[in-house]
Parts: sequence; structure tokens; C-alpha cells
Amino acid sequence: MQSSETAAYLPAAIIATTLEERYQQCAWCWQKRHPDKPYPRAWSSTICPECLAEVEAEAARIKAERAIRKAQAASLSLAGAMLESTAATLCGKRRRLAHIAILYRDQLTLLPVQVQATMEHLTTLRRLVNAACASIRRLDPEAMAHIRPGAVITRLESVEELLTETLLQVEMFRCVYQSLSPERVRIHMDIRAAFPPLLTAYDDTVSQLSALAQKARQTEKGE
Ligand SMILES: [Zn+2]
Repeated sequence: MQSSETAAYLPAAIIATTLEERYQQCAWCWQKRHPDKPYPRAWSSTICPECLAEVEAEAARIKAERAIRKAQAASLSLAGAMLESTAATLCGKRRRLAHIAILYRDQLTLLPVQVQATMEHLTTLRRLVNAACASIRRLDPEAMAHIRPGAVITRLESVEELLTETLLQVEMFRCVYQSLSPERVRIHMDIRAAFPPLLTAYDDTVSQLSALAQKARQTEKGE
């Protein structure tokens, strides 16, 4: 396209003014139209409406792509922070869970306060795990396609199942733990057996969450 300054020192005859001239003198499609001729030196370069539309469409596409990448980086940054904090929270509550497991493994009789504390801690963990699942599901699906959180969601769900199962057993235990009955023995043994796989699944999920957080960070930085 011609600026008025360029037009000022170029002879009028070689500046494309009419639509036909713009097509004839288009520097973008000159080679396509005249494969065997070089672009005339005397002509100022111009662009035909067709090429202009193509160039503008390409620029718009690049701009839109850049905006999408920027939005995705923001989503990934958010996801990374959320996953990191979830992993840290669960990690912080792990010690207490392991301690409770030891109580059911080593003690033959549990105190009311211990049973109550078990219920409270399992309830807290279950709520946290459910909230983590919901938060991951709410993340921008397009940005998440880069880090694929599906496996972590499955692990969180299986931890939630184990927590629920153990919680229900402790609830049953609460009704009978002060009696001396075969039922009490059975439920105590069930709870005792439930903790090791729960802890393994718990640890596995925490490390998967951390790995996913790291992946989100790396993807965000385009590594
Ligand atoms: Zn053209």
C-alpha cells in the first residue's frame, strides 16, 4: 500500500491507483501471475485486495493463537498452584493418618477420644479429596489436555473410596468398641487391615499430584 510520502517522490504513472492496477502490480502474487518475469524495479510495491485479505487473515490467526496460548498459560499456572497446594495439604495430613493406623494396629483397646479423632480425621481427608477432584474437574479442559489429569482424578477417587469404606467401618466400630464381642474383633481387624492399602494409595496420589503440578508448570513455561 502507498503512503502519501512515498507517493510524493515516485512518478505518478507507476503507482497503482485503480483496482485493476493493484491486481496487476501486486508484489505478493506477481510470481504466481507472471512466473517467468521479475517484479519491475520501477514499480512501487502494492498489494491486491485478495492478497491483502489473506495477509490480514493470517495476522488475525496468529494473534488469536497467541491469545489462546496466553490464556492456556494462565490456566496452567492456576492449575499448577492449585495442584501444588492440594498436594501440600494432603502431605501435611499424612502423618496423623499414619499415626491413627498405628493405633489400630498396636492397641487392643481404643479410647473414645481416639475413635472420635479417627472419624474426624477421615472425614476431613474425605472432604479434601472430594474438593481436589472437583477443582481438577473445573480446570479449563483445553489447557488440561496438555497435562491430562485423568489418572490423578482416578487415583483421588480410589482414595476417596478407601476413606469412605474405612470411615463406615469406624462408624460401626463406634457402636461396639466398648463391648467384648466377636463383632468388635472382626470390625477392629477390618479397620486394621484397611489402613495399609489406604496409606499406600494416599502416598501414591500425593506424589501423582505433585508430578502433575510440575508438569503444569513446565507446560506453562513451554518446556
Ligand atoms: Zn495479490
